[in-house]
Amino acid sequence: MRVNRIALNGFRNYEWETADFAPGTNVICGANAQGKTNLLEAVYMLSCGRSFRTRYDRELLGFGYSEGQILAEIFSHDRDQTVDIRLRAGQAKRITVNGVKKTAGELAGAVNVVLFCPDDLNLIKEGAAVRRRLMDNAISQIRPRYAEILTEFNRLYEHKTRILRDWREKPSLLDTLDEFSDGMARSSAQLIRYRAAYAARLNQAAPPIHREFSGKGEELAIAYQTVSTVKDPCASAREIYYDICEHQEAHRQAELDSAQCLTGAHKDDLDIQINGRSARSFASQGQTRTAALSMKLAEREILHAESGEMPILLLDDVLSELDQKRQEFVLNRIGGGQTLITCCEDAEISQRTGGRVLLVEKGRIRG
Ligand code: ATP
Ligand code: MG
Repeated sequence: MRVNRIALNGFRNYEWETADFAPGTNVICGANAQGKTNLLEAVYMLSCGRSFRTRYDRELLGFGYSEGQILAEIFSHDRDQTVDIRLRAGQAKRITVNGVKKTAGELAGAVNVVLFCPDDLNLIKEGAAVRRRLMDNAISQIRPRYAEILTEFNRLYEHKTRILRDWREKPSLLDTLDEFSDGMARSSAQLIRYRAAYAARLNQAAPPIHREFSGKGEELAIAYQTVSTVKDPCASAREIYYDICEHQEAHRQAELDSAQCLTGAHKDDLDIQINGRSARSFASQGQTRTAALSMKLAEREILHAESGEMPILLLDDVLSELDQKRQEFVLNRIGGGQTLITCCEDAEISQRTGGRVLLVEKGRIRG
């Protein structure tokens, strides 16, 4: 799987520009604020129709533009394909693949990416939201149905949160509370099954990478955590649903008192341990970075195994954040697929990777 060419019109700081990528490693270099991350963001959008930096499509339009476009020639599933994303101010974006209209969720089949940016190095120490996002991004790419359920879950969650927040001023809101709780329990049950299965895969794929990477035989272990009453997160959706309802009933009053949703997949997490101890509480800075990198490289392996194609690896600015040993480890691992790496210092990294160099300057790209 690879992106051969991308044309950006009115996207971020690209007025009208194209870039050609090599099938292997591409080093995107340039000074700060020239458009390196914007270029990676455009490639990322091909995988899911949205940005990793903003929820708002209007921010993606070039300043002063009312229309924007990302047009890409990709090679995936043994054929050349064209992905076209049109952004329009005040309107929904329009996505087509080979001229056929698609939803953002349906893009997943065409292009898969694994993104790695400096924030991901904090994956272990940060709050649970980043680890849920890690699962959500990966699973959405291999199970398009998951993205649909997640969207529905988020809609219900937001609505229920509004009810819990406003019911004192408007008691009639409580009439629909149970309906939303039930919907959340149903969609949670489905999300939980997918997440439990993905966490199990991650717990197979990441520890060997971490062991090799740490060079000290450190044992990484990843366990999925969800609603406490769920006895088996791999059970049928029906069984999980009943377990969640039990938690929901026990917490109904507490939800009304605290004005917060207390039951559901929005509180899920991954418990990450190194040598049997919570990494979040005890791991050193270097250990957490190693574990985060191992989890991301494992994601690439899992997507590869699931789809039969190596996802495109996007490394935004991470190499400069890593010490020499970790840089080498990453660079040695990226073979076998297409990789886009951004960095500020050009010559050195491009020499080490032997990759193609693209120079970005003020929204222009020189290949
Ligand atoms: P760094 O090395 O600092 O990470 P970068 O090359 O990755 O820099 P980008 O994040 O790609 O920089 O941003 C390049 C420029 O694009 C910035 O100056 C930013 O202000 C500008 N920019 C961001 N959004 C838009 C937009 N919607 N329209 C026009 N320009 C934008
Ligand atoms: Mg950047």
